[in-house]
Amino acid sequence: MQHLIDISDLSNKQIDVILRDATTFKTKRPIQLLQDKLLIALFFEDSTRTRSSFEIAAKKLGAAVVHLDPSTSSTNKGETLEDTFANLCAMQPDGVIIRHAQNDIPRQLADMEMTSVINAGAGNYAHPTQALLDLFTIMEHFNGDIKGKTVGIVGDIISSRVASSAIRLFERMGLNVILIAPKPFMPQSDLVQYENLDEALEHLDVIMSLRAQLERHQTPVFEDYQEYAKHYCITKERMQNREILILHPGPVMHNIDISDEMLQDPRCKVLEQVTNGVYIRMAVLKLLMLDA
Ligand code: ASP
Repeated sequence: MQHLIDISDLSNKQIDVILRDATTFKTKRPIQLLQDKLLIALFFEDSTRTRSSFEIAAKKLGAAVVHLDPSTSSTNKGETLEDTFANLCAMQPDGVIIRHAQNDIPRQLADMEMTSVINAGAGNYAHPTQALLDLFTIMEHFNGDIKGKTVGIVGDIISSRVASSAIRLFERMGLNVILIAPKPFMPQSDLVQYENLDEALEHLDVIMSLRAQLERHQTPVFEDYQEYAKHYCITKERMQNREILILHPGPVMHNIDISDEMLQDPRCKVLEQVTNGVYIRMAVLKLLMLDA
Protein backbone atom coordinates (compact mmCIF):
# COMPACT_ATOMS: atom_id res chain seq x y z
CA MET A 1 0.00 0.00 0.00
CA GLN A 2 1.51 3.33 -0.99
CA HIS A 3 0.85 6.68 0.68
CA LEU A 4 1.76 10.22 -0.29
CA ILE A 5 2.51 12.12 2.89
CA ASP A 6 5.49 13.99 1.51
CA ILE A 7 7.84 13.95 -1.45
CA SER A 8 10.09 11.42 0.33
CA ASP A 9 7.37 8.79 -0.29
CA LEU A 10 8.09 8.99 -4.02
CA SER A 11 11.09 7.54 -5.86
CA ASN A 12 12.67 9.62 -8.65
CA LYS A 13 11.16 7.18 -11.11
CA GLN A 14 7.69 7.73 -9.65
CA ILE A 15 8.13 11.52 -9.85
CA ASP A 16 9.04 11.10 -13.53
CA VAL A 17 5.96 8.95 -14.10
CA ILE A 18 3.72 11.54 -12.40
CA LEU A 19 5.13 14.36 -14.54
CA ARG A 20 4.78 12.28 -17.71
CA ASP A 21 1.23 11.14 -16.92
CA ALA A 22 0.23 14.73 -16.07
CA THR A 23 1.45 15.83 -19.52
CA THR A 24 -0.55 13.04 -21.16
CA PHE A 25 -3.69 13.91 -19.17
CA LYS A 26 -3.28 17.57 -20.13
CA THR A 27 -3.03 16.82 -23.84
CA LYS A 28 -5.39 13.86 -24.31
CA ARG A 29 -8.89 13.27 -23.03
CA PRO A 30 -8.35 10.82 -20.18
CA ILE A 31 -9.90 7.40 -20.07
CA GLN A 32 -11.84 6.23 -17.00
CA LEU A 33 -8.90 4.49 -15.40
CA LEU A 34 -10.29 4.66 -11.86
CA GLN A 35 -13.90 3.76 -12.61
CA ASP A 36 -14.26 1.27 -9.75
CA LYS A 37 -12.38 3.37 -7.16
CA LEU A 38 -13.77 5.26 -4.19
CA LEU A 39 -11.99 8.09 -2.38
CA ILE A 40 -12.96 9.81 0.86
CA ALA A 41 -11.93 13.45 1.36
CA LEU A 42 -11.46 14.65 4.90
CA PHE A 43 -10.58 18.35 5.13
CA PHE A 44 -10.06 19.66 8.67
CA GLU A 45 -8.83 23.00 7.30
CA ASP A 46 -10.35 25.33 4.71
CA SER A 47 -9.53 24.74 1.07
CA THR A 48 -10.69 26.00 -2.30
CA ARG A 49 -8.17 24.81 -4.88
CA THR A 50 -6.81 21.59 -3.41
CA ARG A 51 -10.17 20.15 -2.44
CA SER A 52 -11.91 20.86 -5.74
CA SER A 53 -8.79 19.91 -7.69
CA PHE A 54 -8.65 16.46 -6.09
CA GLU A 55 -12.35 15.97 -6.68
CA ILE A 56 -12.17 17.03 -10.33
CA ALA A 57 -9.05 14.89 -10.85
CA ALA A 58 -10.79 11.84 -9.38
CA LYS A 59 -13.96 12.41 -11.39
CA LYS A 60 -12.08 12.92 -14.65
CA LEU A 61 -10.65 9.43 -14.12
CA GLY A 62 -14.05 7.99 -13.23
CA ALA A 63 -13.53 7.59 -9.46
CA ALA A 64 -16.20 8.49 -6.91
CA VAL A 65 -15.42 10.95 -4.10
CA VAL A 66 -17.25 11.24 -0.78
CA HIS A 67 -16.58 14.32 1.34
CA LEU A 68 -16.92 14.09 5.08
CA ASP A 69 -17.44 17.48 6.66
CA PRO A 70 -15.52 17.34 9.95
CA SER A 71 -17.54 20.24 11.38
CA THR A 72 -20.65 18.04 11.33
CA SER A 73 -18.99 14.68 12.01
CA SER A 74 -18.83 12.63 15.21
CA THR A 75 -15.56 14.38 16.09
CA ASN A 76 -18.01 16.78 17.75
CA LYS A 77 -19.26 13.88 19.91
CA GLY A 78 -15.73 13.22 21.10
CA GLU A 79 -14.79 10.49 18.63
CA THR A 80 -11.03 10.40 18.12
CA LEU A 81 -9.59 10.99 14.68
CA GLU A 82 -8.18 7.44 14.69
CA ASP A 83 -11.66 6.03 15.37
CA THR A 84 -13.24 8.21 12.69
CA PHE A 85 -10.56 7.11 10.23
CA ALA A 86 -10.91 3.41 11.14
CA ASN A 87 -14.69 3.64 10.65
CA LEU A 88 -14.29 5.31 7.27
CA CYS A 89 -11.78 2.63 6.28
CA ALA A 90 -14.31 -0.05 7.27
CA MET A 91 -16.38 1.23 4.32
CA GLN A 92 -13.47 0.13 2.16
CA PRO A 93 -12.44 3.22 0.24
CA ASP A 94 -9.40 2.96 -2.04
CA GLY A 95 -7.87 6.03 -0.45
CA VAL A 96 -8.39 8.89 1.99
CA ILE A 97 -7.36 12.44 1.09
CA ILE A 98 -6.70 14.42 4.25
CA ARG A 99 -5.88 18.00 5.21
CA HIS A 100 -5.12 18.80 8.83
CA ALA A 101 -3.61 21.65 10.86
CA GLN A 102 -1.25 19.24 12.67
CA ASN A 103 1.96 18.23 10.92
CA ASP A 104 1.98 14.55 11.87
CA ILE A 105 -1.70 13.54 11.46
CA PRO A 106 -1.53 12.24 7.84
CA ARG A 107 1.53 10.10 8.68
CA GLN A 108 -0.12 8.74 11.83
CA LEU A 109 -3.18 7.67 9.84
CA ALA A 110 -1.00 6.21 7.08
CA ASP A 111 0.85 4.15 9.70
CA MET A 112 -2.45 2.44 10.58
CA GLU A 113 -2.06 0.81 7.10
CA MET A 114 -5.83 0.63 6.53
CA THR A 115 -6.00 2.50 3.22
CA SER A 116 -3.79 4.66 1.03
CA VAL A 117 -3.46 8.12 2.62
CA ILE A 118 -2.90 11.21 0.50
CA ASN A 119 -1.79 14.38 2.25
CA ALA A 120 -3.63 17.46 0.96
CA GLY A 121 -1.76 19.78 3.36
CA ALA A 122 -0.49 19.18 6.88
CA GLY A 123 0.30 22.09 9.22
CA ASN A 124 3.48 23.83 8.10
CA TYR A 125 5.11 20.48 7.29
CA ALA A 126 4.08 19.28 3.86
CA HIS A 127 1.87 19.80 0.82
CA PRO A 128 3.32 17.35 -1.69
CA THR A 129 0.82 17.72 -4.54
CA GLN A 130 1.34 21.51 -4.49
CA ALA A 131 5.11 20.96 -4.81
CA LEU A 132 4.57 18.57 -7.71
CA LEU A 133 2.26 20.94 -9.57
CA ASP A 134 4.70 23.79 -9.03
CA LEU A 135 7.53 21.65 -10.39
CA PHE A 136 5.36 20.70 -13.38
CA THR A 137 4.58 24.38 -14.07
CA ILE A 138 8.28 25.28 -13.88
CA MET A 139 9.21 22.38 -16.19
CA GLU A 140 6.56 23.39 -18.71
CA HIS A 141 7.80 26.97 -18.68
CA PHE A 142 11.45 26.02 -19.27
CA ASN A 143 10.65 23.13 -21.65
CA GLY A 144 12.06 20.63 -19.18
CA ASP A 145 15.41 22.43 -18.91
CA ILE A 146 15.32 23.23 -15.18
CA LYS A 147 18.69 22.03 -13.83
CA GLY A 148 20.57 24.94 -12.24
CA LYS A 149 17.64 27.36 -12.45
CA THR A 150 17.07 29.39 -9.29
CA VAL A 151 13.76 29.67 -7.45
CA GLY A 152 13.33 32.46 -4.89
CA ILE A 153 10.69 31.70 -2.26
CA VAL A 154 9.31 35.00 -0.95
CA GLY A 155 7.17 35.56 2.13
CA ASP A 156 6.07 33.60 5.19
CA ILE A 157 8.38 30.65 4.59
CA ILE A 158 8.57 29.50 8.20
CA SER A 159 4.81 28.78 8.40
CA SER A 160 4.40 27.43 4.88
CA ARG A 161 3.93 23.75 4.09
CA VAL A 162 4.08 24.73 0.42
CA ALA A 163 7.62 26.04 0.95
CA SER A 164 8.66 22.98 3.00
CA SER A 165 7.65 20.46 0.34
CA ALA A 166 8.85 22.68 -2.51
CA ILE A 167 12.34 23.04 -1.02
CA ARG A 168 12.66 19.27 -0.61
CA LEU A 169 11.40 18.53 -4.14
CA PHE A 170 13.15 21.35 -6.00
CA GLU A 171 16.57 20.62 -4.50
CA ARG A 172 16.15 16.95 -5.34
CA MET A 173 15.38 17.88 -8.97
CA GLY A 174 18.49 20.06 -9.33
CA LEU A 175 16.97 23.51 -8.86
CA ASN A 176 18.67 26.10 -6.64
CA VAL A 177 16.47 27.54 -3.92
CA ILE A 178 16.93 30.96 -2.29
CA LEU A 179 14.85 32.16 0.66
CA ILE A 180 13.69 35.79 0.73
CA ALA A 181 11.82 37.02 3.80
CA PRO A 182 11.85 39.40 6.74
CA LYS A 183 13.45 37.87 9.85
CA PRO A 184 10.21 36.68 11.54
CA PHE A 185 9.25 34.73 8.37
CA MET A 186 12.68 33.18 7.77
CA PRO A 187 13.21 29.55 8.91
CA GLN A 188 16.48 28.04 10.16
CA SER A 189 18.09 26.82 6.96
CA ASP A 190 21.37 26.25 5.14
CA LEU A 191 19.90 27.77 1.99
CA VAL A 192 21.02 31.20 0.75
CA GLN A 193 18.89 33.84 2.47
CA TYR A 194 18.04 37.44 1.59
CA GLU A 195 16.07 39.94 3.60
CA ASN A 196 16.02 42.35 0.66
CA LEU A 197 13.96 41.15 -2.31
CA ASP A 198 15.36 43.77 -4.69
CA GLU A 199 18.90 42.52 -4.07
CA ALA A 200 17.87 38.91 -4.72
CA LEU A 201 15.98 39.55 -7.97
CA GLU A 202 18.98 39.44 -10.29
CA HIS A 203 19.67 35.82 -9.25
CA LEU A 204 16.18 34.49 -9.90
CA ASP A 205 14.54 32.53 -12.71
CA VAL A 206 11.38 31.83 -10.70
CA ILE A 207 9.63 33.62 -7.82
CA MET A 208 7.33 31.64 -5.58
CA SER A 209 5.37 34.23 -3.62
CA LEU A 210 3.64 33.08 -0.42
CA ARG A 211 0.76 34.39 1.66
CA ALA A 212 1.33 35.28 5.31
CA GLN A 213 -0.19 32.26 7.12
CA LEU A 214 -2.18 34.39 9.57
CA GLU A 215 -4.13 31.35 10.81
CA ARG A 216 -0.86 29.79 12.04
CA HIS A 217 0.46 32.88 13.86
CA GLN A 218 -0.16 32.70 17.62
CA THR A 219 0.14 36.49 17.86
CA PRO A 220 0.19 38.92 14.90
CA VAL A 221 3.68 39.02 13.36
CA PHE A 222 3.17 42.34 11.58
CA GLU A 223 0.69 45.03 12.52
CA ASP A 224 0.67 46.51 9.06
CA TYR A 225 0.85 44.38 5.93
CA GLN A 226 0.87 47.51 3.75
CA GLU A 227 4.31 48.20 5.16
CA TYR A 228 5.35 44.57 4.55
CA ALA A 229 4.06 44.89 0.96
CA LYS A 230 6.39 47.80 0.27
CA HIS A 231 9.30 45.39 0.63
CA TYR A 232 7.89 42.06 -0.58
CA CYS A 233 4.99 42.63 -2.97
CA ILE A 234 5.74 41.49 -6.52
CA THR A 235 5.03 44.65 -8.51
CA LYS A 236 5.72 45.75 -12.07
CA GLU A 237 7.98 48.50 -10.74
CA ARG A 238 10.10 45.92 -8.98
CA MET A 239 10.05 43.31 -11.78
CA GLN A 240 10.65 45.72 -14.69
CA ASN A 241 11.39 43.61 -17.79
CA ARG A 242 13.02 40.74 -15.97
CA GLU A 243 12.15 37.36 -17.43
CA ILE A 244 11.12 35.74 -14.15
CA LEU A 245 8.31 33.18 -13.86
CA ILE A 246 5.94 34.16 -11.02
CA LEU A 247 4.11 31.50 -9.02
CA HIS A 248 1.83 31.57 -5.98
CA PRO A 249 -0.08 28.62 -4.45
CA GLY A 250 -3.12 30.79 -3.63
CA PRO A 251 -5.04 32.31 -2.07
CA VAL A 252 -3.21 35.48 -3.16
CA MET A 253 -3.40 38.50 -0.89
CA HIS A 254 -3.89 41.11 -3.59
CA ASN A 255 -1.38 43.97 -3.59
CA ILE A 256 0.39 42.45 -0.58
CA ASP A 257 1.84 39.28 -2.14
CA ILE A 258 1.44 40.24 -5.82
CA SER A 259 0.05 43.46 -7.30
CA ASP A 260 -3.17 43.34 -9.35
CA GLU A 261 -1.18 44.56 -12.32
CA MET A 262 1.36 41.71 -12.04
CA LEU A 263 -1.42 39.15 -11.62
CA GLN A 264 -2.49 40.10 -15.18
CA ASP A 265 1.08 39.96 -16.50
CA PRO A 266 1.96 37.01 -18.78
CA ARG A 267 4.92 36.18 -16.52
CA CYS A 268 2.49 35.33 -13.74
CA LYS A 269 1.26 31.72 -14.00
CA VAL A 270 -0.98 31.49 -10.93
CA LEU A 271 -4.03 30.22 -12.81
CA GLU A 272 -1.89 27.89 -14.93
CA GLN A 273 -0.75 26.34 -11.62
CA VAL A 274 -4.38 25.69 -10.75
CA THR A 275 -5.01 24.09 -14.15
CA ASN A 276 -1.89 21.95 -13.79
CA GLY A 277 -2.94 20.93 -10.28
CA VAL A 278 -5.79 18.86 -11.70
CA TYR A 279 -3.50 16.94 -14.08
CA ILE A 280 -0.86 16.37 -11.40
CA ARG A 281 -3.50 15.05 -8.98
CA MET A 282 -4.89 12.78 -11.69
CA ALA A 283 -1.37 11.41 -12.14
CA VAL A 284 -0.91 11.02 -8.37
CA LEU A 285 -4.22 9.17 -8.01
CA LYS A 286 -3.35 6.89 -10.93
CA LEU A 287 0.03 6.12 -9.34
CA LEU A 288 -1.40 5.36 -5.90
CA MET A 289 -4.59 3.57 -6.95
CA LEU A 290 -3.32 1.61 -9.96
CA ASP A 291 0.43 1.51 -10.46
CA ALA A 292 1.78 1.19 -6.91
N1 ASP B 1 -3.25 26.86 -0.26
C1 ASP B 1 -1.93 26.70 0.31
C2 ASP B 1 -1.98 25.81 1.54
O1 ASP B 1 -2.97 25.20 1.81
C3 ASP B 1 -1.25 27.99 0.56
C4 ASP B 1 -1.92 28.96 1.48
O2 ASP B 1 -2.95 28.66 2.09
O3 ASP B 1 -1.39 30.06 1.61
O4 ASP B 1 -0.98 25.71 2.22
